[in-house]
Amino acid sequence: ADVFHSTPYAPPDAIFALTAGYQQDKFDKKVNLGVGAYRDNEGKPFVLPVVRKAKQILASDDSIDHEYLPIAGLPSFVSATSKLIFGADSRAIKEDRVVTIQTISGTGANHYGGAFLQRFYEPWLGKSKEEKKIYVSNPTWANHKAIFNSVGLTPVDYPYYDSSTIGLALSSFLDFLRTAPAQSVILLHACAHNPTGVDPTRDEWKEIAKIFKEKGHFAFFDCAYQGFASGDLDNDAWAVRHFVSESIPLLVCQSYAKNAGLYGERIGALNIVASHAGDVEGGAARIKSQLLILQRQEISNPPTFGARIVSLILNDEKLFAEWKEDIETMAHRIIAMRERLHALLVDKYKTPAPGPNGWDHVVKQIGMFTFTGLNPTQCKAMVEKGHIYMTANGRISMAGINDKNVEWVAECIDKAIR
Ligand code: PMP
Repeated sequence: ADVFHSTPYAPPDAIFALTAGYQQDKFDKKVNLGVGAYRDNEGKPFVLPVVRKAKQILASDDSIDHEYLPIAGLPSFVSATSKLIFGADSRAIKEDRVVTIQTISGTGANHYGGAFLQRFYEPWLGKSKEEKKIYVSNPTWANHKAIFNSVGLTPVDYPYYDSSTIGLALSSFLDFLRTAPAQSVILLHACAHNPTGVDPTRDEWKEIAKIFKEKGHFAFFDCAYQGFASGDLDNDAWAVRHFVSESIPLLVCQSYAKNAGLYGERIGALNIVASHAGDVEGGAARIKSQLLILQRQEISNPPTFGARIVSLILNDEKLFAEWKEDIETMAHRIIAMRERLHALLVDKYKTPAPGPNGWDHVVKQIGMFTFTGLNPTQCKAMVEKGHIYMTANGRISMAGINDKNVEWVAECIDKAIR
C-alpha cells in the first residue's frame, strides 16, 4: 500500500530557492542579495580570523574528546553567553536568576522559548492553541510563525513597519501594546530588525518598556545580531538590558551565526530570567529542570564544536578583543556599503525615492538588511533584468554588496524604479 499517498507537495523555502536560482544563473554580473549571510568585499564567505585561531587551538588540544556534553550544554559556553547578552555585572546573573541552555543556534532558541512558554507560561495554563497568542512584528523573520505554530502557539501580527515612511510605525505599535490584553507575549527583535532594518531608538525603547511594565507583558527577545548591528556588542544589547533593569519578565534567544560567522555550526542559547533563584515557585532551578527535559526530548545533548569555539573566544581576554575587531570589520563594511549605495542613488543616478525622506532609509536602517521600499514588480525586475536576487518584499542583504557590484546594484535599482 502507498502509505504516503496523501503527502502534499510543500513549497521550497523562498530564500533558499533564490540562492538556487542565483547559482544556476550564468550572467557575469549576477548578485545574491537574498540570504542573510555576511560576505567579504570579494563576495566570499568570511571565516573570522579569531575563529581560525580558536580552531587551531582546538586542533592542537589533545585533551579534547568526543564525549556527550551535559544536557544544558558546554558549561564554560553557557555561563559566558549569558554574560555577553546581559552584561557581566548584571544583577539578574548575580542573583542566580538567569537560566541558560545551549541551543541549535537562534532557531533552536526560538523553538525552545516557544515550547517552554506553551507548557509553563502561567497566564496560558488551561488555554487552547488559539488562545496562546504570540505577537510578532509585521513583518518579521519568515521562520518565526512556522516555529511558533509548530510548538502549539498562534502567531499574530502587531503593527511595526510603516511602508509610507519606510520607518517605524511607532504610534500604532505603542497603541497595540496599550490595548493588548495584560500579560501578552510579544516578540521583539533585540537589534537589527529582520527584515526591515528598522529599530526603535533608545528613547523609543524606553517608551515601549514602560508599557510592557504597566501591562505586565512578557518580552520574547530574539537577538540574532548582537554586535553585528552597530559593531558594538554592548550597544546592541542595550534594549535587553534596559528591560531586565525594569524587571520586565523576559527571555532572550541568542545566535552566533552572524556575529561569529558560525552559521552552519548551529550554536546559540536560550536565556530565561526568573523572578527568583533556586528551587522555589517560579524559581530558576525549576525552569532549568524543565528546559533540560525539553532538550533531552529533542536532541539529547547539544553539539560540541561551535560551543567550544565560542567558549574560547568569550573566555579569553585576547581572543575576545580580537573578536570585537572582527565584528567591527563586518559591521563597518556593511555601513560603508550603505553609504556607497546611498550616494550612488542620490548623487549619480538621482533616482526617484520610494518614500518621503529620499533614500535616507538606506543609511538609517541597521544591520544586515535594507528594506529598499521597492514594490513587488520592481523587485521582480531586479531579479529578471538585473540578475540581482532579492525577495519580493524589497529586502536586500547589505552583506552581499561590495565595491565590485555596488554600481550595478544602484544602476538596477534606478532602472527598476523608473
Ligand atoms: N532570528 C532572526 C530574526 C534571524 O534573522 C535569524 C537568522 N536569519 C534567526 C533568528 C536564526 O538563525 P540561526 O538559527 O541561523 O541562528
